Amino acid sequence: MKKSGAVLRTKGWPGLQRRSVLSAGAASLLGACKPWLDADPGSDHITGGFTGINEARGHLLRDTKTWPAPAVQRKTRVLIAGGGVAGLAAARALRLRGMNDFALLELEDEAGGNSRGGSVAGVACPLGAHYLPLPGDDAPEVQDLLEEWGLRQRVAGRWEYDERAMCHSPQERLFFNGAWQEGLLPVQGVGEETLAQYRRFAALVEAARHDARWSIPAFRSAQTPFKQTLAAITFDTYLQQHELTDVHLRWYLDYCCRDDYGAGLESVSAWAGIHYFASRHGFHAPGYEAAEREGLLTWPEGNAWLTRRMASPLAERLHTGQIVLRVEQVKHGVEVDAFNTFTQQMERWQAEQVIVALPISVAARIVRNPPAFLMQTAARTVQAPWLVANIHIARPLFDRPGPAPSWDNVIYGDAASAPGLGYVDAMHQSLLPVPGATVLTHYRALGNVVGGPVKGREQLLQRPWVQWRDDMLRELSVAHPDLLRKTTRIDITRYGHAMAIPVPDAQGRAAQVPPSFGRIRFAHSDWASYSVFEEAFTLGHLAGS
Ligand SMILES: Cc1cc2nc3c(=O)[nH]c(=O)nc-3n(C[C@H](O)[C@H](O)[C@H](O)COP(=O)(O)OP(=O)(O)OC[C@H]3O[C@@H](n4cnc5c(N)ncnc54)[C@H](O)[C@@H]3O)c2cc1C
Repeated sequence: MKKSGAVLRTKGWPGLQRRSVLSAGAASLLGACKPWLDADPGSDHITGGFTGINEARGHLLRDTKTWPAPAVQRKTRVLIAGGGVAGLAAARALRLRGMNDFALLELEDEAGGNSRGGSVAGVACPLGAHYLPLPGDDAPEVQDLLEEWGLRQRVAGRWEYDERAMCHSPQERLFFNGAWQEGLLPVQGVGEETLAQYRRFAALVEAARHDARWSIPAFRSAQTPFKQTLAAITFDTYLQQHELTDVHLRWYLDYCCRDDYGAGLESVSAWAGIHYFASRHGFHAPGYEAAEREGLLTWPEGNAWLTRRMASPLAERLHTGQIVLRVEQVKHGVEVDAFNTFTQQMERWQAEQVIVALPISVAARIVRNPPAFLMQTAARTVQAPWLVANIHIARPLFDRPGPAPSWDNVIYGDAASAPGLGYVDAMHQSLLPVPGATVLTHYRALGNVVGGPVKGREQLLQRPWVQWRDDMLRELSVAHPDLLRKTTRIDITRYGHAMAIPVPDAQGRAAQVPPSFGRIRFAHSDWASYSVFEEAFTLGHLAGS
């Protein structure tokens, strides 16, 4: 998942028209030389493997029938289970209110959850999330965080963000009809009917913005009857109701849904489809002056830049490699059992209060005598599997006609030819005068492969690394025939249960701030019904406040 999805800021139509002539030439050249087949030097020189997530630990929780008796007893005032953005935000909130007697237990070897980073051949790259849109006024907690770190400051009465973290230009481009075009909405050479449908969709988004307030975090704006109606149907149904059937519009909207929600427009609700645009930048049809483009913050290691900063003050209060197995309220507090994967011992924690910052499906499994709201939300939460491939290239790639290499580079195509979401360039923010080796982070959302998320998870676990490698190289080689030769290594991170898909809900329910359950509080982006930093952070912050 990778960009805010600002639609189009094309002002220079004539330039684009000219390029569409070039693109026709490029397309026929591409078709003639079949780069993947003819220039194929074989992919055996490319090393790599699966990395990032310790699947065995997650599956231990599901599959183990008998655990050893507790061998170690520990005590803390507040215990946080789960060290993703929500858990780390809860820890920060505790510190801010002077509560320092807490511990955070995290499954993996590093905190950060879906917002962790890694490196390939010495080049830093994201393992999951990699950007943060500039937070709006509905996310004051996130604004405060950025201010605390000096990323946001008031200069001469205006808010300014640190230029080093603001995504540099050019930000995004689309490989469409054999050439790159600026922005991600297909425009080069599309017909009048397509443009008319873009305008009609833009008008619908504007109308939705007048009808209701849309916010991030979503719980900060009311779930009006209009939003409830949208939440009850799929985005696909909504588009059909409005006779929005154009293939390019549908491709773009499907791409946005897969990119932000892990599944396409046939899976997500119309609430989610509209929220994507209405809560941020709107949808601007070509030829219409777009509102000033919203910026975003990004780093070579992605949002790990943020989570590492949040984790660093925790020091010895952060316990990694811990599988939290049981959370139970007892007479004078809460008892938590966690299996320490380093010592292979069961540890029993006594706490006055526990913050469960875990995916809802895990929370429902480990909280004893769970409250009805947890079980009901767990029953209707569907999770998308994701795959993130970090592709190390030794030298810059040759480029096709069109705008220069951008931060976010997407390839147009159907589910068979372009199942992925393109790639972001980890070195895009680099100020080096000459481009060199880099890592391209390629994303795939598997929430709506044929057969749905369950099939996606099966694929994720069963397909060998070489098959993923060749599949991705084939897809990206359409735009970069020299990719195969220049790739040295591909590390793939597999997320079986990455994030909640905002599927339709018959009762039109959407985001919620989970109520407390005795001495237990809950926080995780799943409660928002979809997953972005602002949702996870705000819910975590509230749970720790
Ligand atoms: C591939 C991908 C790309 C994304 N890109 C972006 C992006 O660019 N921008 C953006 O804003 N958002 C992005 N997201 C969304 C991202 O999920 C959120 O930004 C955020 O990281 C979610 O944090 P969280 O705390 O809610 O959940 P999680 O990240 O799921 O955190 C839960 C934590 O609990 C731990 N845990 C689970 N079970 C146990 C257990 N039994 N015991 C102990 N610990 C356990 C996990 O290891 C994890 O650390 C992306 C997500 C994915 C999957």
